[in-house]
Formats: sequence, structure tokens, C-alpha cells
Amino acid sequence: MSTYLITGGCGFIGSNFIRFITNNNSNINIINLDKMTYAGNSHNLDGIDKSRYHFVHGDICDSQLVGQLFSKYQFDSLIHFAAESHVDRSIDGPADFIQTNIVGTLNLLNQCKEYLGKENKSNFRFIHVSTDEVYGSLNSKGKFIESTPYDPSSPYSASKAGSDHLVRAWYRTFGLPTLITNCSNNYGPYQFPEKLIPLMIINCLQNKKLPLYGNGENVRDWLYVEDHCLAIQTVLNSGEVGQTYNIGGNSEVKNLDVVLTICSILDQILPKEDGSNYAELITYVEDRPGHDFRYAIDASKINNKLGWSPSESFESGMQKTINWYLNNQEWWQSIQQNTYQQERLGIF
Ligand code: NAD
Repeated sequence: MSTYLITGGCGFIGSNFIRFITNNNSNINIINLDKMTYAGNSHNLDGIDKSRYHFVHGDICDSQLVGQLFSKYQFDSLIHFAAESHVDRSIDGPADFIQTNIVGTLNLLNQCKEYLGKENKSNFRFIHVSTDEVYGSLNSKGKFIESTPYDPSSPYSASKAGSDHLVRAWYRTFGLPTLITNCSNNYGPYQFPEKLIPLMIINCLQNKKLPLYGNGENVRDWLYVEDHCLAIQTVLNSGEVGQTYNIGGNSEVKNLDVVLTICSILDQILPKEDGSNYAELITYVEDRPGHDFRYAIDASKINNKLGWSPSESFESGMQKTINWYLNNQEWWQSIQQNTYQQERLGIF
């Protein structure tokens, strides 16, 4: 048996990863450390096999707690998802992003270093889950590779860049067995409705306006979350310590086209009663300050060295995602009632 510490396992990607691990492995225990911010949701883990799962409600910045967890559970690996993750919220309130993303990551690195100084865990891995946003913005040409210089634009991406630098430094200076993944935009089940794709799906279902930032021409690479989970497991099992791996879906899409795809799928599977098209709900709104124009990932390193590539196309992933939000309306309605009503964030 192996025991993993997973941070932020009640969020979008962390919960999908726990589901993925528990569905596909019978020899892994999971300890999920989550602070349960607005983005943490225990329902994200409904239905998983909890026989090898234990939840700890706490903060990655709490050094005493994290130290106790290492002593008690003798972890074999740590997969670090916990973060403040929404760019717009980082514009409204950057301090939480610095605290969790940088100070929290520092605390995990220090606790790991102390633990590995005492225990003989030669296969231990610290996987730091990061974003392509650390590389900044591209114009219409080129893609990010692992050696692209960091050039973050938002408080969110700056805080993730800071945490990546710490993780790399703890490998180079202290020999901590760290690996970093920089991934493009994820989408799929259990994504908090502040993010573009769930926001647009839910607004369509509620016949609300579809607010597109700026001119809708900004381009992102999109990856279905299960493909990301497999990539992380691949890096955990076969990645080379000290290395960075870019992860992407090979699916560059303009924001406007993302929304038009959602609208046309819904036009087919859930036509509006008044005969109008969902795309008529699109409305252009003030752009996000510092909005990066384009992100694109060159994922050839993880593909060539570790044999990973995404299974879902943007179209097949979107079909699955829309079906999930249609079939799980209680999940997002409860968020709407308790936490977030799809209001605009990040305008100062
Ligand atoms: P999320 O916001 O959905 O979930 C974050 C989780 O972390 C929540 O459960 C929250 O309660 C928890 N958390 C926050 N602060 C914490 C703290 N101080 N201590 C313990 N737990 C805390 O985020 P996500 O979209 O699932 O992203 C997960 C990770 O993947 C993040 O590190 C993010 O930067 C990275 N990432 C996300 C994307 C994406 O498209 N969503 C893309 C690339 C990388």
C-alpha cells in the first residue's frame, strides 16, 4: 500500500483526481487536506469509495498540522492542488493568493524536507500542480515550452510562478524530489461556476446573459480534467525528479468559439421553448484587467518522454461536460444558493 497526501482534494481538479485514483487503484490510501474555502465542496467526492480515504479539514499554511500529518501517516507522495485559483478573485483580493499559493507551498516544502530528513522514502515524490499562466501571454504565434521564461500577468499567475520557483529551488538546493506540471485550462465535472465553461452552461440553462470579456478573441488551450488526472499520475509514476512537464489538450479555442460550441450543443439537446438560439444570449462586457491574449501549450515533452497524450477532443469533452451539468443540477444550484450567484468579479 502507498499513502498519498493530496492537498485541495475538495476542489475541481483535486476531487477529480481522487475519484480517478480510487476508481483505478486498490493499493493507494488518500489523506485529503483541504481548508474548504468557497471553492471546496464535500459533494465533489460523493459516491467515491471511502474505504481508503480520509479527510482532514485544515490549512496548508498550518505547519504544526502538516507536520503531524507527515508523522502520523508516513506519506509516500504528496500531490499539491490546494490554491486560490481564480484570476478575477486575485484582482479583487490578492493577499489570500500570496498566503495560500506561496506561503502554503513553502510550508509543504519545509515539512516534506524535515520528514525526508528522518524517513527513508527513496520513492517519495512532491508533485506541484501548476498552470501555463506563469509563462504570460502569447501573440498569435508560438507555444509555451518548459524553458519559456516566466512572465506572469495577474496576481494569481504571479503567485503560482512564485510557488513554482520555490518548488524548483527546494529540489536544487535541498534535493527534495519535486516535479512540476504546468497545465492549460481544465474543464469538466465539478468545476466551480465562476469559471468560463460552467458559468456559460449554467447561464444558458437559466436563460441568463452570457457575458464575454472584451471582444471574445482571447485564446486558451482546453484540457478535459480526466486527461489532466492521467497526466499527473503519469508524472508521479514515471516523471524524472527535478523536471517540469507542460500538459495541454492540443485544443486552442477562442473564448467566443467556446461559448458558441456550448450554445450549439444545447440548441441540439435542449432547444429553447421560444425557438430562439442560445447564442442570442451572448453579450460583450468590459474586459478583464491585464487579460492575457493567448495561451498555447507544447506538450511534446510529456508525450515523447512519458507517453501521455489527451484522449478527449474539445468537442467530445464538451459534450460530456454539458451532459454532466444537465444531470447534476442540484450540485450547482446548491452553490448558487449558498456561495456564488454568477456575479461579475475582478473589476476594480
Ligand atoms: P479550485 O479552486 O477548484 O480548488 C482549490 C481547492 O483548494 C479547494 O478545495 C480549496 O478549499 C482548497 N484550498 C484553498 N486554499 C487552501 C489552503 N490554504 N489550505 C488547504 N486547502 C486550500 O482549484 P482547481 O481548479 O481545482 O485547481 C487546482 C490546482 O490546479 C491549483 O493549484 C491550480 O493553480 C492548478 N491549475 C488549475 C487549472 C484549471 O484550469 N482549473 C489549470 C492549471 C492548473
